[in-house]
Amino acid sequence: MNILVVAPHPDDDLIGCGGSMIRHLRNGHPLTVTYMTSGDAGSLRHTKENLTEIREREARQAAKILGINELIFLRNADGYLQYNQNNLVRLINLIREKKPEIIYIPHHRDKHRDHRTTYALATEALRRAGGPWFQECEGSPWTVDTILCYEVWTTLQEISYVENITEFMPLKLEAIRQHQSQIRDIAYDEASQCLNRYRGITTGRGEYCECFQALSIGKIS
Ligand SMILES: [Zn+2]
Repeated sequence: MNILVVAPHPDDDLIGCGGSMIRHLRNGHPLTVTYMTSGDAGSLRHTKENLTEIREREARQAAKILGINELIFLRNADGYLQYNQNNLVRLINLIREKKPEIIYIPHHRDKHRDHRTTYALATEALRRAGGPWFQECEGSPWTVDTILCYEVWTTLQEISYVENITEFMPLKLEAIRQHQSQIRDIAYDEASQCLNRYRGITTGRGEYCECFQALSIGKIS
């Protein structure tokens, strides 16, 4: 089973579905993470160029800890992610190349514009990747069976799938803590632990849980 995670910024993947990613990796599922931006607006302590380098390095360190197979950096400008042909074609090509059975993407009501744009790009790419259209795209049509939308700091209103990540929580936190450029100003590791604990308590499915909204490809408009 191939897994693809689409993240607006480095660390969104870990916060939104890091525990579920660890479960896939433990089960031997090849997993690719693609970052729409490299988070170059995420700190005033560095220039954009330096921060790009720092955050990509942090993402690689986290990936090494978890054993992630491949990271792809699309390097759009952080905070200015565009819904355009270039990004759409790159995602369609990626879906057709990796042929994932499961894809993880942000949800459509996330307050962060880059997250909502990632949702719009990913869902349209998923729809187009499945059909015999668009000569500018590479590969042969591929339809993804399962689309799971994760939550970062805007919680989901509709939950259709819950993953108990209790056994993976310490490793998830260790991976998030590799993003030192972010953690030093805001305790995202603590916030992530609290969100997963809140989900664990309110769903009754485990000490720490990740929640998702499942989408059906036929219902994406
Ligand atoms: Zn983000």
